[in-house]
Amino acid sequence: MVPTIKDLAEAEISLCQRKFTDSLDLANSALEKALESDGIESKARILLLMSRIFNTQGRYNYDCDFHDKSLAYLNAALRFFPEKKGFYWDIQIEKGLTYLHKEYFGDAIAIFEECQNSIEEIENIPCTQAKFLLALSELHYQKNEYDESIDNASKTLEIAGENELGDKLYLEIYSQLVKVYLRRHEYTKVLEYGNLTLELSKKLEDKEKEYIGLNAIGVYNASQNDFKTAMFNFMNGYDISSKINFKYGVAHSLINIGTIYAKLFNYNEALERYNIVLDNYENVIDDSTVLTIMNNAGNIYFVVGDLEKAMDYFERALSMAREMNYTKMLVHTLSQISGTLLAQGKYREALKYAFESEEIIEKTSNLEGKQTNYITLGNIYYKLGDFDLAMKYIGKGIIGSKQIKDTANEIKGYRIMSNIFQEKGDYKKALEYQLIYSQAQENYAIDQRNRQIIDIEIQYDIQKKEQEIKLLTKFQNELIRKNNKIAEQNEQLKVANENLKQFTYVVSHDLNEPLRMIGSYSNMIQKRYADQLDESSEEFFAYVNTGVTRMSKLLKDLLKYTTVGENMEWRETVNLNDVLDGTLLNFALKISESNALIKKQDLPTIVSSESLVSQLFQNLIGNALKFNKPGTPPEISISCEQEEGKYLISFRDRGIGIPQDELDRIFVIFQRLHKRSDYQGTGIGLSICMKIIKKLKGTLSVQSEEGQGSIFTVGLPINPTMI
Ligand code: ADP
Repeated sequence: MVPTIKDLAEAEISLCQRKFTDSLDLANSALEKALESDGIESKARILLLMSRIFNTQGRYNYDCDFHDKSLAYLNAALRFFPEKKGFYWDIQIEKGLTYLHKEYFGDAIAIFEECQNSIEEIENIPCTQAKFLLALSELHYQKNEYDESIDNASKTLEIAGENELGDKLYLEIYSQLVKVYLRRHEYTKVLEYGNLTLELSKKLEDKEKEYIGLNAIGVYNASQNDFKTAMFNFMNGYDISSKINFKYGVAHSLINIGTIYAKLFNYNEALERYNIVLDNYENVIDDSTVLTIMNNAGNIYFVVGDLEKAMDYFERALSMAREMNYTKMLVHTLSQISGTLLAQGKYREALKYAFESEEIIEKTSNLEGKQTNYITLGNIYYKLGDFDLAMKYIGKGIIGSKQIKDTANEIKGYRIMSNIFQEKGDYKKALEYQLIYSQAQENYAIDQRNRQIIDIEIQYDIQKKEQEIKLLTKFQNELIRKNNKIAEQNEQLKVANENLKQFTYVVSHDLNEPLRMIGSYSNMIQKRYADQLDESSEEFFAYVNTGVTRMSKLLKDLLKYTTVGENMEWRETVNLNDVLDGTLLNFALKISESNALIKKQDLPTIVSSESLVSQLFQNLIGNALKFNKPGTPPEISISCEQEEGKYLISFRDRGIGIPQDELDRIFVIFQRLHKRSDYQGTGIGLSICMKIIKKLKGTLSVQSEEGQGSIFTVGLPINPTMI
């Protein structure tokens, strides 16, 4: 693949995942390469992608600056493609879409008309034709011309099918259709295209479209009164939008979650969501949605009896609705205000608003607003004592409410009817209505109780999920804390070790010199004044000399211990037979003096460090010879066997052995089990062995029985991976 194409493909994927910076970086690097070598189409393609990145960012941040940047890139691309054919149209279509994002409808339409004039050209390239049709669908959508919008999207679907234009285009079409059908409240279609969108978005890892799919399915569920599933889908949509910082998705998910809560009579949760949106996302959602939320919130305050707050929201909604000239919402809000005034006992004022509402309703076919208003009007007249008018309106209201299944208003109607008949003294009729009212009220109460149960179930699920997350985060935090502590301790240990090493090195090295001086001066004095010294002085000098020798040995061992394994060759071929023979040669005098019996098996050749293995053997054989039972010749056998990736080399002696409870102690530095007068030594030998064994990634263990001898076993890796 040409490098620019590869970069471009990767940039496309990053854009799909909404990783804007990555995507832009990749596109920029592709552009740099392309400017040097590639043809004009390649350059234009990259510029087009860059403009799409900015457009998406613009949509995400509600920031026109991004769209302007996008336009600049598109104009640059047009300079490469000034001739009206081929790729020129792709650039123009994207430009038209950018104008739509900026809400410059005039400019957008001008571009689309230019395309339309050259439609034959465009139809020659199916991919461009598909883009054009989708852009038209978006234009009609934004102009609220839903039939045309669907028409264009469906045509795109046909073209995509005939020409196999790929999943990405299908995803665009499906999500476009979801959008339009949502506006048209055609929920079966919403579900159909929502499912297709969800499936494909997951496959293509397009998070924004995944939100669109989930939201669509949620809306369908809610329309079927399946509140629990709806809630689940909305919440998932919320999580996904938050993750990619898609504010539009976050805001709409919150609104939908709030509305479900309201339907489940959980008003606090509902209000909380609505208020978050109104406080933080007002610029992200369109005015009609803001209006709807304000009405919904006001309604909740009304239901819970906070009439002042309710009025506050309704009045804000009313002035917005008037400003926008949004009749449907205007009617609704006027009725709501009228209802609130009625509840406050301000009948005349209430009547004023209800009339205004009715006036507008008469001109429209808004059924929902109509019923609410009839019931409100009836109620006001009842309060004012005009029973005839009251009954007229209530009667109409009940019939209408039944038609559109507005149970709350229907019940209200029965109750007022019953009250009117009661006050008129027609108890038979009053009772009739009272019975219908009770029955309806009972059904309503059952429904309410069921919804409250669903709400509790949802709360329980959320709590469970939250607890799981909490537990997981707690666990993770604990782990991080522990790791940090270990790292800190390791660091401290490293420093301490380094200090100790320095100290031991300096001590063992620097003390040697004065010690040597003491030794030689003591010898000199002894020699020079030999004739003047008596027997006990001789004895004192002997003590000094032994002390000096011992001290010197201690310092040497200490130095050996601190520097063991430094600057060693780790990966050399080591013939263990040779090492053993060398060691035995070192001890030749001691062996012959003590009549020691040495038995040895053939040993293997390994990859290791000769010097370290030799020190190891030296210490173990030295100890086996030393810790011998007095009066008997030492007997040492060296054997080898193979086990799980390592050679086990054992040094067995028939010496004095080690008590069981002392077995661990002998590997600790300076730890000895005997008096120096019985067995010479510094207590460093086995510590050196341990250090060596760690370096060689091997093992060292001991088995022993007091008076019976000991077996020291060295394990050395056959294939040392990391020494
Ligand atoms: P050193 O030999 O200088 O005392 P080491 O570190 O080599 O120091 O050994 C520590 C102690 O372990 C010895 O003092 C001795 O008590 C015990 N030990 C080591 N090897 C043997 C052995 N083969 N048999 C009995 N005891 C042993």
